[in-house]
Amino acid sequence: MKYNRCGKSGLLLPQISLGLWHNFGSVDSFENAESIAKAAFDKGITHFDLANNYGPVPGSAETNFGKILWHNFQGNLRDEIVISTKAGYTMWNGPYGDWGSRKYLLSSLDQSLKRMKVDYVDIFYSHRFDPETPLEETMSALDYAVRSGKALYAGISNYNPEQTKEATEILKRLGTPCLIHQVKYSMFVRTPEEGLLDVLEEKGVGCIAFSPLAQGLLTDKYLNGIPENSRAHNPNGHLKEEEVSEERIRKIVQLNDIAKERNQSLAQMALAWLLKDNRVTSVLIGASSVGQLNNNIDSLQNLNFSSDELNAIESILK
Ligand code: NDP
Repeated sequence: MKYNRCGKSGLLLPQISLGLWHNFGSVDSFENAESIAKAAFDKGITHFDLANNYGPVPGSAETNFGKILWHNFQGNLRDEIVISTKAGYTMWNGPYGDWGSRKYLLSSLDQSLKRMKVDYVDIFYSHRFDPETPLEETMSALDYAVRSGKALYAGISNYNPEQTKEATEILKRLGTPCLIHQVKYSMFVRTPEEGLLDVLEEKGVGCIAFSPLAQGLLTDKYLNGIPENSRAHNPNGHLKEEEVSEERIRKIVQLNDIAKERNQSLAQMALAWLLKDNRVTSVLIGASSVGQLNNNIDSLQNLNFSSDELNAIESILK
């Protein structure tokens, strides 16, 4: 594994990080989840990404990850891993379990620490911008989380370029620099190229790309329809069958041909394509098996693209 510096911070993150949004909930096989997390760490994936609401049921991914830590990461191993969590989407009933108030963020962080049975997380994120709460309040909650020792670094997710600029400036004033922005970015979702990546570079903030495989679309999984063992088929999955459209499949087939010429799987090419930009600190993958995880890690063997390959990819994506 290669480790990239996260923005202008002291923290190095693996080029591939593991997300626990799917496959780690109470509805999933604990043994499978545990074997994925262990295999990831054995291959140098030191960064595990969670959020308060990951499951289903919400919270259960953190509870399961706590068990995985307890079984496998005792003693000083806690110091060899980076754990991230977030608050920002609906978590509990009533007015205090959602969005970006200080009340929600700090109570949620305490709940996350209890579920994972850890004293601190490494990165605590505001999961989304709250248009109703003053940004100063949300950012000062992140600053407090760090000052109180419950988090080591602060991050934001799903903020647009303007909101990101403002958030990073507030955090800087408060003395807790923004470490990282977690953003949806893949061959199929190019919005970060419309200003956000530039803001992050200017502000010295790292970038971690979530759903880099477009939830599995950018793999060879859907080449011949929707298989039973896929997220699009899973009632608990967030990829809807309608998203596997004919137009998408046409593009996937063409991209798969380019990947084959590079001696890569489509998943490997999709990850390499993101990592070729040195503003991208890490790609944040999901995996439903150890086999997928290993396949994805092998993307690191070839991160170079010729200009012909890049042009061919662009013309397919247009
Ligand atoms: P991906 O785009 O990497 O999709 C992962 C899914 O793709 C897997 O679960 C699997 O699904 C399929 N897959 C992965 N590798 C392969 C392979 N080699 N061959 C075939 N299929 C494969 O990422 P996710 O959408 O899971 O998101 C990753 C992480 O990003 C999340 O866990 C979370 O931590 C973070 N995230 C953050 C958000 C935010 O708002 N900040 C929002 C969403 C995600 P299958 O079940 O079909 O096998």
